[in-house]
Amino acid sequence: MEAVIVSACLMGLPTRYDGRSKPSDILCELLEGCVPVPVCPEQLGGLPTPRPPCEISATDDRASDGDDVLDERARVIASDGSDCTEAYIRGADCVLKIAAAVGARKAIMKQNSPSCGCGFVMKGGVRTTGNGVCAALLLRHGLEIVPL
Ligand code: SF4
Repeated sequence: MEAVIVSACLMGLPTRYDGRSKPSDILCELLEGCVPVPVCPEQLGGLPTPRPPCEISATDDRASDGDDVLDERARVIASDGSDCTEAYIRGADCVLKIAAAVGARKAIMKQNSPSCGCGFVMKGGVRTTGNGVCAALLLRHGLEIVPL
């Protein structure tokens, strides 16, 4: 059976910044015939739960996303002002290693997150176009991402 990486909070695990989960009704359907591999890149990067929420922030006013973080053009900053960039990159690397270890070529990831978001991330409370750090890294390595 095919192994599929899944954002842990979508599977009901309390990994979110606020210590809650975000279970999805249609996840079971999407995972039919697959082996789910739950991961939380923020926890894997060493961040605690609960933790302050983060946003991707460029050094100037440009729009920025996870690709800019990987290319060192933006940082991931928590609401308390702490710089979480290294933890986000470390967590994304861990997820990539897990995907390689289990042979996963697909990931189902939580929309709008600065880590897992694919297509959209939150910026100043507004949903904007872009990928989270982990999603950007997985896409660079050819994984298919299904945003939920
Ligand atoms: S980093 Fe991803 S898996 Fe972890 S809580 Fe955020 S959206 Fe869910």
